Amino acid sequence: MNYKIVNIKTTAGRDPDSSILIIYTGGTFGMAYDKSGSLAPFNFGRVLESIPELSALELKLTVISFPEPQDSSNVNHEHWIDLGYIIYENYSQYDGFVILHGTDTMAYSASALSFMLKGINKPIIFTGAQIPIGFIRSDARENLITALEIASSKKDGVPIINEVCIYFNFFLLRGNRSQKIRSSTFAAFETENYPKLAEAGIFIEYNFAALQPHDPDARLSIKKKFDDNVVVLKLFPSINQKVVKSILKTEGLRGVVLETYGSGNTMNYPWFLDCLKEANDKGIVLYNVSQCSGGEVIMGRYETSKTLSDLGVLSGGDITTEAAVTKMMFLLGTEKKLEIVKNKLQMPLNGEMDY
Ligand code: ASP
Repeated sequence: MNYKIVNIKTTAGRDPDSSILIIYTGGTFGMAYDKSGSLAPFNFGRVLESIPELSALELKLTVISFPEPQDSSNVNHEHWIDLGYIIYENYSQYDGFVILHGTDTMAYSASALSFMLKGINKPIIFTGAQIPIGFIRSDARENLITALEIASSKKDGVPIINEVCIYFNFFLLRGNRSQKIRSSTFAAFETENYPKLAEAGIFIEYNFAALQPHDPDARLSIKKKFDDNVVVLKLFPSINQKVVKSILKTEGLRGVVLETYGSGNTMNYPWFLDCLKEANDKGIVLYNVSQCSGGEVIMGRYETSKTLSDLGVLSGGDITTEAAVTKMMFLLGTEKKLEIVKNKLQMPLNGEMDY
């Protein structure tokens, strides 16, 4: 990929307090209406014209822009690899990273990056907007300026944030715990199963107990392989036997995120349980994740979920679907042994689920 690199002229002198790399991937943040009346991403040059405030920051700011900014509905694992690689390559030169990304799949990208990058000891902050920067009521300006402040914040000389986060609408959230749950208010994201990491009011109040601690000896490493032979199978009453069978018989299928009811319950019809058994016997990984945003899978709590563990279904605990599907793609892509994939799915890789 040929990136466009732009150094933003700021008031920061030769020795700025912090240097931040902004990675512009697209999203509503930098969109405008095209001739047909639909919102489409535009290039970062035009984004900059809309935020003259950036030049007043005491930061060294560099922007790397995707050559073709994406609506995040088009983002896939190739983009995650590009993003991870940009951060990995530039890691030593910057104090923090801000990724401008569409909100639709931001939680997936943040989760994927949190699994690809090991040994993070600097802030990597995703943000975006619900209304484009060029519009008078846009949330883009506040989201970016505060994300930059968080990405450059230090305490006792070390970064406060040492993980992949989403900053949106005055709250900082753990990336791999986040979900986009609202599309028409500014408060688009929540982490139902994890406390908020910070709230931006007049001051930015950090929830220190919830943050990943800084490890001065951490060394960044990257793994860049995803296996996309996975599916999310969301249960609903009356789901059709033929449909379930044909999904589980998909050629090359390696993993299923089974979106179940409540605390991990499924129907216990014999045909359904037989389908799961057959899939598990073929080596397809079955991962139980709840349709509820809050709470966790507890297999065996109800009779309807008791048999699932015997059939080889693994509990996703309190993981989100976004983290579950990216984690499964990542583990199937990077681990050779199925047993290791299965073990790692049931424990946190990087704060995405409770023990
Ligand atoms: N469709 C847009 C995107 O995800 C929505 C947004 O950015 O809010 O790229």
